[in-house]
This record gives sequence, C-alpha cells and structure tokens, in this order.
Amino acid sequence: MNKVGRILRLKQHKSSSTINTVLQFLVREAYRNVPFYHRTWGAAGFRIDDFRGAQDLQMLPITTRVDLLAQGLPDRLARHVHPGHTVSRVTSGMSGANFEIHMNRSELAFRQFVLGKRMWHNSGRRLPLTVVQAGSWVPTTSKSEITVRRTVWGRVIHISRRLGLGEQIEAIAHSRPSILTGCPSSLEILACEMHHRNIDHIRPRIVIARGEILRPQVRELLADVFACKVTNYYSAEEIGLIAWQCPDAPEIMHVNRAACVLEILDSEGMPSLPGQEGTVVVTNLFNRTMPLIRYSLGDRSALLNSAPAECNCGPDVETILTPAGRTDDIVVLPDNKQISPRVIDDLVYIACVAEGMESRFCRSIRDYQIVQDTSTLIRVLFLADGAPPDKLVATFTEGIKSLHPDLHCALASVSDLEPEESGKRRRITSHVE
Ligand SMILES: [Zn+2]
Repeated sequence: MNKVGRILRLKQHKSSSTINTVLQFLVREAYRNVPFYHRTWGAAGFRIDDFRGAQDLQMLPITTRVDLLAQGLPDRLARHVHPGHTVSRVTSGMSGANFEIHMNRSELAFRQFVLGKRMWHNSGRRLPLTVVQAGSWVPTTSKSEITVRRTVWGRVIHISRRLGLGEQIEAIAHSRPSILTGCPSSLEILACEMHHRNIDHIRPRIVIARGEILRPQVRELLADVFACKVTNYYSAEEIGLIAWQCPDAPEIMHVNRAACVLEILDSEGMPSLPGQEGTVVVTNLFNRTMPLIRYSLGDRSALLNSAPAECNCGPDVETILTPAGRTDDIVVLPDNKQISPRVIDDLVYIACVAEGMESRFCRSIRDYQIVQDTSTLIRVLFLADGAPPDKLVATFTEGIKSLHPDLHCALASVSDLEPEESGKRRRITSHVE
C-alpha cells in the first residue's frame, strides 16, 4: 500500500485501541526523530517505553506555539524531512510572528480528504461539490484574487477579501457554490451587503462558518440571506478540521477523531471534569513531518460525558461544547475570580434580545467587541450608527453587576472595529493579567 493509502486508512481509526496504537507510533517517532521533542521530553523525565496511548499523554509536557517558534525549523521537523519538500500552511494566530505548519503532500491530502468528506456529508451527499471560500486570505504573491483548486470532491474556489464587496458577491454568484464557507465576520459583511442590495439569487446548499465564534445573530442572518442551513466547524491550521457542529444540537460539536486527540485541561494543566470549561489541547494524529503533540490551541471548551438527547449521531461520537473564546480572553473580576468569555458574550446577546434586536441585527448593531481595561471596567464597542439603545445598556449593566457589584461597564458605538492582523475579529480583549 502506498503512503496515501496508509494515511487514508487512518480515517477509519475510531476505536480507542486504534487511536492508542497510532499515538504510540507517533510519539515514538517524534521522540526519536524530532530534536525539539527529544530534548524537552527528555528534560521532563519521559521514558518512551512507558508510553502506551491516550491515558499516558499526561506524561508529556504541553507544547505551545511560542515554544515551537523559539526553535529553528530543523528542530521542529522530523530528521528525515527536507524543508524544501514540504507544503506549509500559515496559522492566523492572534498575535506575533506567523507560524508555519509543515506537512508532506500525503498528509495534506488526508487533511483535505477528511474536510471534504464532512462537507459532502453536511451538504446532502451529492457530488460534485463547488466549495466557495469567501473573504479568503490569498497571498500577495498570487497573480489572481480568485483561485480555483480541483479535489476529489469537486472544486474549491478562494475569493480574496482584498476584492471589493460587490466584486466578491459577483464572483460568488458566478461560481454557483454548493457550499459557501468562510469566517463568520467575512460572511456576515457579505450577507449584510446582499441584504441591503436585495440580492437573493445566491443559494448554496449549506453555509459553513469556521475560524471564529459563530454568534446566534450571525447564524440567523446567514440562514435568512442565503435561505439554507448554516453549520459551524471548529478548525485550526495546526490540525485542519477539529470538530463539527452536531446537526441536531448547535451548542455542541463532535470531535474529528480521525485527525486528532483532544484534551481539555484546567488552569493547573490537569484534565477538566466533564462539563467543566478548560483550555483545548490537541495532538495531531496524521502529521509525522512536523508532529504537534499536546499542542495548546488556547481555545476554551468542555468535554461532555454524553451528547444531549436530541443528538442522533450515534454512540461513538466524542462531544464538546462549542468553543466560545480563548484562554487569553478570560475576564478577571474585582475579586480575582476568572470567568469565561462565554459569560460576557452571552450577556451582550441577552441585552440585544431584550431590546428586540435578535432579528434585525445587521441593521442596528453590525458587530461588537468587548474590552476589559481594568479589573473593574468592561467596555463594549458596538459597530453601529446610533448610540446603543437605553434598554440594551440597562440590561447589560444589570448582567455585569450580577457578576460582581464593583464591576462597571461602558457601552459606546464606533464606526469601525479593528480586526486582528490575520483579518479575524477578536471578540474579547482583556488587558488584565
Ligand atoms: Zn450529534
């Protein structure tokens, strides 16, 4: 069997014993062949013969993007790999230098195959697929703002966010997508524009949001404008597709066990209890070129013991709460208690609903950002034309006070929100250590 065949077989590996076998192999190889892991695991007292699988992952130190960036590329790659023979993907991290993830072509093919299969499944199992990635990051070296790639599932068309909104909409319409995908913030801007121009002829089978948090208001707007189902993928360049939204329960996701082992750790680095929110740490099961083992993504989620009753995905699925922020986004109360960004985001949503804004989100408040300046002040910046309505302010203030009586808030409208360098919008920024 050739390399691609061997790797594609991994997609069938779902049972714990198979994952343990794959993990054992991967960890052994990483320890022997990747200088970074050999050095750091050795310093932590790791003994390769003691490692039997997922239950022993705790033996290995957590790896972060910063740790890996501090190494030269040869230290991160397996010894037999020549950097010139890999393909790379750049992570769109929140700050700092770009981080390149290297793979060989078979590993990339596997990653794309798994993503394509999920998209095919979600879009009604019909071929060929025309997947349009709207608001894409297209390298400045690219000759065209629109790129087309052929895959076993059909075509993937990337439309650059550097194009004007009108040109982007025209290109999407011309492509006749069966699947429209992109970051929620990019899709939202397009949907608002289409809504204002009464454009109603772009009809994909499904819209797939990925790369950022999908808020309920944006989900509703996209469903309205594109008149189709909207679903949500949890993805990162380090893995590809990490988890997908349960078709029956939007608040949960199922883990892509073909591609990764996912752990949720508490602030002490220990496994969080089921249902308890913690930091997402992943191990890539298919990348032997640049192994990512116990790699902290910094996102917040919780593993669930079982899926809710409405989920019909079967007994073998691994279920997590849909990630709602990053560990960097933790809000610190005046008594030093830490709370999830999810809580503040929910308060904004509740305040919008109290104002009756749920269904006219794009005409009133187009977006917002939450900034914690000090332990006693939280600001909310609304991308909106007028001042935030009184009832919204009152409901949000009440919610903030219920978290801690000394916590204050300030709400204001702005004409622009700064995106991250990557083009993503960061929902919550905390300046409190
Ligand atoms: Zn399900």
